[in-house]
Amino acid sequence: MTRRTVYVNARVFTADEPAWAEAIAVDDGTILAVGTEPEVRAAVGGADPGGADVETVDLDGRLVLPGVIDAHTHLVMMGEALGRVGLTDARSLDEIRARLVAARAAAPDAPRVLGRGWLFDSVPGSAPTAAMLDEVLPDVPIYLDANDYHSCWVNSAALAELGITRDTPDPIGGRIGRDAEGEPDGMLYETAAQQYAWEHLAAQATDADRDAAVERTIAAYLATGVTGVVDMAFDELGLAAFRRAAERRGGTLPIRVVAHWFVANTGDASANLAQVARAASLADEVATPWLRIAGIKLVLDGVIDACTAAMRHPYVDGSNAEPIWPLEALEPVVAAADAAGLQVALHAIGDAASGIALDALEHAHAVNGDRDRRHRIEHLEFVDRADVARLARLGVVASMQPVHADPAIWANWAAMLGDERADRGFPWTEITDAGAVLAFSTDAPTAPHEALPNLYVAATRRSALDDSFPANHPEYAVPLADAVRHATRDAAYSCREEGSRGRLAPGLAADFAVIDRDPFELGDDALLEARVIRTVVAGRTAYRADARPTESTDRGARAAA
Ligand SMILES: [Zn+2]
Repeated sequence: MTRRTVYVNARVFTADEPAWAEAIAVDDGTILAVGTEPEVRAAVGGADPGGADVETVDLDGRLVLPGVIDAHTHLVMMGEALGRVGLTDARSLDEIRARLVAARAAAPDAPRVLGRGWLFDSVPGSAPTAAMLDEVLPDVPIYLDANDYHSCWVNSAALAELGITRDTPDPIGGRIGRDAEGEPDGMLYETAAQQYAWEHLAAQATDADRDAAVERTIAAYLATGVTGVVDMAFDELGLAAFRRAAERRGGTLPIRVVAHWFVANTGDASANLAQVARAASLADEVATPWLRIAGIKLVLDGVIDACTAAMRHPYVDGSNAEPIWPLEALEPVVAAADAAGLQVALHAIGDAASGIALDALEHAHAVNGDRDRRHRIEHLEFVDRADVARLARLGVVASMQPVHADPAIWANWAAMLGDERADRGFPWTEITDAGAVLAFSTDAPTAPHEALPNLYVAATRRSALDDSFPANHPEYAVPLADAVRHATRDAAYSCREEGSRGRLAPGLAADFAVIDRDPFELGDDALLEARVIRTVVAGRTAYRADARPTESTDRGARAAA
């Protein structure tokens, strides 16, 4: 028996043409009609003249948006981060240490103290050391992920647990911070953080820990109007955790998960290609509307804040970073994934890295010929003007994170570049003016996962964290309607789902969010106060902000949102 619902008395932004409507009819998870109330009622009646029960939901004049698709996120890490000591707003070493000491006091028997989100400029000299942590908690290992997740700050007990000494070599694409005498200083950068700290912690984490993390992530996303996500570093443990989450629910999930399989540069060409082959077989094997492997993810460089992004010209201190994937190692991997029909997502923050990414994609076009492909570059924080044009010509999706351009975290980013390059950071309008598709996301947990503050930064280039900062190059802000389209319609395009969701139109999935106030009428500032009050996925209410009784299913009965 099908379930039919008409949602009426709403301000529906469709991210389609026409842009606005007042009612939606849903038939068993799919949108049947969008338009005026008489139009959608006629569609319901016309489709079922026998007259099944039709539920009516009165949305009380509220704003309805297509369900947000977070087109670049890290699901298990986000759930883990939600369970760690938050340090982003701890703006001094004393405050960071006080929170760690308090966390230890609250859990004196925990094997470790785990924190996340600290900012370099909260630490004296932007130079964290193990000794700073040893002074307050010498006896328990401490692991603190930086806000951008490209480095990890640990204490001496953690270094000992990891077996890191002055004789430990730096891994490819990473660095163990060392003091003037060559002793490890407590900082692990890029692959050193990944391969030492995170792999160690992942090995300690149990399936139950990961299951709890997955559930925290799902609940947090639904509460902010997100109905679909694209994980950008899926691995065997994450896949197993999401398969268990689906099994617990008879094969479905409350949110739609598309994933890119993480492929590391092992330094060995055949081992790299073996990872692509694994992703290709998983893409065949894991292919439901709820959980699907779409492609691979390659990290070409680091981040500007830590001077680990690969730039065409050095940083202000004269340093630069080598790409993690040199072109000759990258080309065969991208070409193999392209030939296998996989989507390729390339993390490239510096202009040298995005140039390499586009070179490798051009090579794949040349060797594999014309085909339906949907490749993407992640972040693109500082990109060469000529490469913006090349990106558009190649049909590559620009996958960018408004929250990473928040003015509250901008100062260090600009200072590391130290020249006029800082005036062309995150040039969203330049990218869309060139004709490229721009998909928005949050890259949680490197930034807050909430959808509406992300749209606020997109539409204003102002800070969602601290309103005392001036707008950060507002010439690159996008109008709110376009910001929503980039976070819904274009995010769906980024994972080849534009024909099934991302807009509110007949035949597409009934995935949408109801917002308690309307920033289109009240102004962009209302995005900071607005709350999601209902999230609908596949026609089912997956989240409600209040605990009112569920609405009657009698024909004609009305329930307020
Ligand atoms: Zn990411």
